[in-house]
Amino acid sequence: MRLSRRHPRYASLRVRASLADAAGRGLVAPEGLIAHGRGEAFDYLLGERTSPSARRAERAAAVWLRHARRPVLSVNGNVAALAAGEVARLQRAVPGLSVEVNLFHRTAARAALVGRTLRRAGVRGVRGVRPTARVPGLPSDRAWVDARGIAVADVCLVPLEDGDRAEALRRLGKRVISIDLNPLSRTSRAADLPIVDELCRALRGISRASRRIGPSPRDGRLPAFDAPRALAEAYATIDQRLSRAARRRKPPR
Ligand code: ATP
Ligand code: MG
Repeated sequence: MRLSRRHPRYASLRVRASLADAAGRGLVAPEGLIAHGRGEAFDYLLGERTSPSARRAERAAAVWLRHARRPVLSVNGNVAALAAGEVARLQRAVPGLSVEVNLFHRTAARAALVGRTLRRAGVRGVRGVRPTARVPGLPSDRAWVDARGIAVADVCLVPLEDGDRAEALRRLGKRVISIDLNPLSRTSRAADLPIVDELCRALRGISRASRRIGPSPRDGRLPAFDAPRALAEAYATIDQRLSRAARRRKPPR
């Protein structure tokens, strides 16, 4: 389908077209398309921009990733399709950051395709294509991880994650940073540091902050982050936008 640049939602239509194409190639699972729709709905409610609160969370995430002893970024099909280039840029901005393929709907072919997509975008040392360890307490293939990656990580950055797995990682004592537009999701509520922002905007925000911070000791010292407050601020943003719309009887711009 040809998309007109003049369409008011051109950017969103383009992303949808590229995700549909990625689903056709088997990179994105059909369920991933549905997850994207849920994300878009929350982005609408949040005003499709990074809130001051999300920006603070992205800066805090950069500090955690810089100080973590073994930081890992988990990548699923949607993340590879939407943001492989941003993942590579984040890895350059956070030296020592491992990138691991971690799929909810795992097949060997899809894992290999996600790995290839990341490598082509410039990601180095991709882990998890042939996983070697399991997260206890998770059923089936969702538990597979890399024995030298997520299995031994102290800080896991998990964009578009499933709530069960986020909770399982926390039970293992890992500090979880989530990127999820839904501040009500179990993932956002389980995370030690929830970033309620769109994936590409969030990854860019963390990269920018990390470059500003510069080299830091990998001492495992992670400054406290007030996760309930970050979530409350996201609820308040949605609340204010809906209340304003209800008063004006016209959706906010
Ligand atoms: P829970 O976390 O409650 O278990 P879930 O993980 O089962 O929910 P899914 O729809 O499978 O929910 O997960 C995808 C999550 O990612 C959704 O909460 C959705 O809002 C979010 N999401 C989807 N696309 C994006 C995106 N581009 N940027 C940020 N978040 C997104
Ligand atoms: Mg989730």
